[in-house]
Amino acid sequence: MYPVKEKLNEVLQSLPKSVRLVAISKFHPADFITAAYEEGQRVFGESHEQELAQKVKELPQDIEWHFIGHLQTNKVKYIAPYISMIEAVDSLKLLREIEKQAAKSDRVVKVLLELHIAEEATKYGLTLDACRQLLADGEWRQMSHVQICGLMMMASNVDDEEQIAREFDTAASFFNEVKAQYFADDDAFCERSWGMSDDYHIAVAHGSTMVRIGTTIFGPRIY
Ligand SMILES: *Cc1c(COP(=O)(O)O)cnc(C)c1O
Repeated sequence: MYPVKEKLNEVLQSLPKSVRLVAISKFHPADFITAAYEEGQRVFGESHEQELAQKVKELPQDIEWHFIGHLQTNKVKYIAPYISMIEAVDSLKLLREIEKQAAKSDRVVKVLLELHIAEEATKYGLTLDACRQLLADGEWRQMSHVQICGLMMMASNVDDEEQIAREFDTAASFFNEVKAQYFADDDAFCERSWGMSDDYHIAVAHGSTMVRIGTTIFGPRIY
């Protein structure tokens, strides 16, 4: 089996104490997650609702599951009863649906707003202006079953480390802007989720508080 425990501990040792690890377990079997769990890892990220539902059934109850992929509105009801955090909220419509479904389960679901900063046209997420608009609109203030905990983004998938660093810096200064304007008194708004296997060292040096690492811990995904 892939040396999950060893790889996990290498990653943990390379992270500052202030940065939390979300171990991205999508497409990997439950026993890989168990191996990481046995080393103390409790936060895992998945991106497909059915795969996640299956793993939730099989694995320990105290795992905190993050939904990290693009989430269709009609899938929210399936994960709302147990999901800890939905990382990639990219529309007011999705936020409303999370509020509705979380209310039905009598829960508060933590969410991050996903920014689109990378150059690739294919990536999801809110442009900075769309995110400003969503926050200015204010409807989120009435939502008592979602808690906006910060921002999430993916950098461009390029080799140019300076470009990647610039994109993280853009996200970090945008975080400061909205923190000051909307969340100055809200300690829960504190997360900056950026950094994946290829760029987490850069992310950590550029404001990340939460890295989402899959391949480095669990090996290549077999789709
Ligand atoms: C798959 C995925 C990751 C993990 O990517 P790795 O390169 O395997 O570390 C992180 N974030 C999101 C949104 C993903 O979909």
